[in-house]
Amino acid sequence: MTRRKYVVGNWKMNGLIAALDEAKAIFAAAEAHSSVDVALCPPFTLIGAMVAAVPGAAVGGQDCHASASGAFTGSVAAPMLADAGAHLVIVGHSERREGFGESDTDVRAKAEAALAAGLSVILCVGEPRAVRESGGAIPYVLAQVAGSLPGEFDPARLAVAYEPIWAIGTGLVPTVADVADMHGAIRAKLNEQAGSEAASVMRLLYGGSVNGDNAAELLGAGDVDGALVGGASLTAAKFVPIVEAAASL
Ligand code: PEP
Repeated sequence: MTRRKYVVGNWKMNGLIAALDEAKAIFAAAEAHSSVDVALCPPFTLIGAMVAAVPGAAVGGQDCHASASGAFTGSVAAPMLADAGAHLVIVGHSERREGFGESDTDVRAKAEAALAAGLSVILCVGEPRAVRESGGAIPYVLAQVAGSLPGEFDPARLAVAYEPIWAIGTGLVPTVADVADMHGAIRAKLNEQAGSEAASVMRLLYGGSVNGDNAAELLGAGDVDGALVGGASLTAAKFVPIVEAAASL
């Protein structure tokens, strides 16, 4: 099974209307690399404007509520993201799991809501530093996969992003061998939980301090189908080299 490379930018809580120029430059450059799927997840406030500025571009949210509507002040529902033109949404990012107390059960409910709204999903998992240092990273992450994965889903619309928490925004990255081991273990878990056909279709992204210098090595690791990128996705100058690295593999 050949899986297309997938490079996704997570702008987090960054970006005003002026930043749409960077999005335009990123999607324009991405057109030269037809073997790579490129998506950007800006703050909610920019989704509609980005879709309008770059028609047809894969634009996504960074979170959604598990309910389709209701009295949840400040939250955004998956059908609202779809209505704004989003194609995808990130769920279970460690900044949501840690900062907002989201459990695996919450993440699973969000993923199911997003799929029901017609969105694709990037489901994040990853271990804290102490767990990595104690040697327990693989069982920790596999338990997150088991607890967060929706019951039924179209595997083409669900990607899993392995993002070790200690590598996010720190400049630290795991060894290529550790990334390959983790991704192989996640693929085996998906095999067990979703079946071999689904597992062979699902894309596994690595995230955590990916940049233009380390992207080729990290994306070349076994079972890595792409990258989820934070800091280096904010400008075309930093993000396009990562797309180019993916295209070169
Ligand atoms: C992220 O938050 O998803 C991420 C990978 O961030 P960074 O690339 O900045 O480490």
